[in-house]
Amino acid sequence: MTTPDFSIEFFPPKTAEGTEKLRATRAKLAELKPKYFSVTFGAGGTTQQGTLDTVTEIRREGHDAAPHLSCVGGTRESIRTILNEFKANDIRRLVALRGDLPSGYGMGGEFRYANELVEFIRAETGDWFHIEVAAYPEMHPQARSPQDDLNSFVRKMNAGANAAITQYFYNADAYFRFTEEARKAGVTAPIVAGIMPITNSTQLQRFSEMCGAEIPRWIRLKLASYGDDTASIKAFGLDVVTAMCERLLAGGAPGLHFYSLNQAAATTAIWQRLV
Ligand SMILES: Cc1cc2nc3c(=O)[nH]c(=O)nc-3n(C[C@H](O)[C@H](O)[C@H](O)COP(=O)(O)OP(=O)(O)OC[C@H]3O[C@@H](n4cnc5c(N)ncnc54)[C@H](O)[C@@H]3O)c2cc1C
Repeated sequence: MTTPDFSIEFFPPKTAEGTEKLRATRAKLAELKPKYFSVTFGAGGTTQQGTLDTVTEIRREGHDAAPHLSCVGGTRESIRTILNEFKANDIRRLVALRGDLPSGYGMGGEFRYANELVEFIRAETGDWFHIEVAAYPEMHPQARSPQDDLNSFVRKMNAGANAAITQYFYNADAYFRFTEEARKAGVTAPIVAGIMPITNSTQLQRFSEMCGAEIPRWIRLKLASYGDDTASIKAFGLDVVTAMCERLLAGGAPGLHFYSLNQAAATTAIWQRLV
């Protein structure tokens, strides 16, 4: 098997201890030689400095790294300032998102959707950045319909994105159907599959409810049956997610993007089974 492109996502740590822990995680994950690491961005700019600091540290260590940038609540001026900061640090790739403000904040700002952010980045910075955007094989939770969501995705790609990364899912058919429909709608850019390792069922359930990713019934029931037996949850998760990754790659997925949650073990174990 030719080695697919793969990337690994972190969130910016909030404490000195978290920063140290992430350094250790990164050292382990760097051995897998991912194409790049990405670092999330708190909507409304809440992690702006932490995102930039983490990305610049990763780049100083000799690895490629992409900050995420969410536009919700931002103004043209505030986004321009961030883009200029990225450029000044010689950052050449980013993940462009709308983001979600905490409930009660409304939307605010001068950008409504990610396609407007992508357009703005291209207008301001030309081809400086390689831009990735988000895709939702199981539909974004706020979309009116799957077709509407697909249209929005196509609009976002046509605004100048180079590639997409999907929300995580545990149903490979949703990914295959989504990519096929995107191709039919004229999208030729890579759509990389977002992979969430399974290590903790309570946390997974919480995330999935927030982002609209479905945990299939059989996986839910199996996880529930293990109770607090974390070793069995991890072993089961490793089998299920690795098998899905194998299927995705065999079916033409151009790469995998791991939501590491700043942990090295699960991503490493899956990757080592795949290569
Ligand atoms: C790979 C990945 C990384 C992420 N990283 C982060 C992060 O770092 N920080 C963070 O805060 N969040 C992050 N998220 C979460 C993301 O911000 C949320 O899912 C958010 O709700 C939508 O962002 P988006 O960029 O996909 O939005 P959009 O593409 O703007 O879509 C949002 C909703 O609006 C609809 N829509 C889009 N365009 C239009 C239009 N022109 N007219 C009408 N409707 C439209 C879409 O169908 C969808 O329902 C990430 C998600 C993924 C998949």
